[in-house]
Amino acid sequence: MEKCNQCNEHEASIVLTTNSAKEYFCRSCYNHRMADELGIEYKEQINSFSVMDHSGEKRHFEVEEHLHPEGFYIEARESQQDGYLFAVDGELHEKIERLIAKLKNKVKRGVSQSFIQVSSFPNGEIVHRLKRDQLLGRIEYDEEHTGPKVIVDGRRYSWEELGRMLLTYEGFQIKIETTDPTGEIE
Ligand SMILES: [Zn+2]
Repeated sequence: MEKCNQCNEHEASIVLTTNSAKEYFCRSCYNHRMADELGIEYKEQINSFSVMDHSGEKRHFEVEEHLHPEGFYIEARESQQDGYLFAVDGELHEKIERLIAKLKNKVKRGVSQSFIQVSSFPNGEIVHRLKRDQLLGRIEYDEEHTGPKVIVDGRRYSWEELGRMLLTYEGFQIKIETTDPTGEIE
């Protein structure tokens, strides 16, 4: 991994190629460079925060602020693998403090609800089933099964496991709706 050429401190995550030279940036230095070019004020807000989920468990999120010519994209990704992910976007004239507050609210709202009930039979068998006739999650690529997986309630389910849970509704209709991480599904 290359180091950021600007601060010589953080790992670089962005490479800009100008003419024949390559410039390496960490996210922070890149945002500052972008702010200079766009002529806007930019001050980093937060790196991480924690919230309590629906079961009283503490969930830790890492925040990544992206500044690009069209505006902001700010993402909160749960530190653990296959966890929650929430994002908001905003235009350049918007206050970043407001966007961070919006993101935190979205995270709090998102983790306060759950869609799958986990219970165990007396013989120890663990059963996962839908609490209501609705499920909200995120689709990801499952390297282990080389296919799709779904993250629901900050937990990973294989496509097969999801299918088995849905079999409770055999014969019912199904509606699939997608939206990017900044969107809202009611
Ligand atoms: Zn840097």
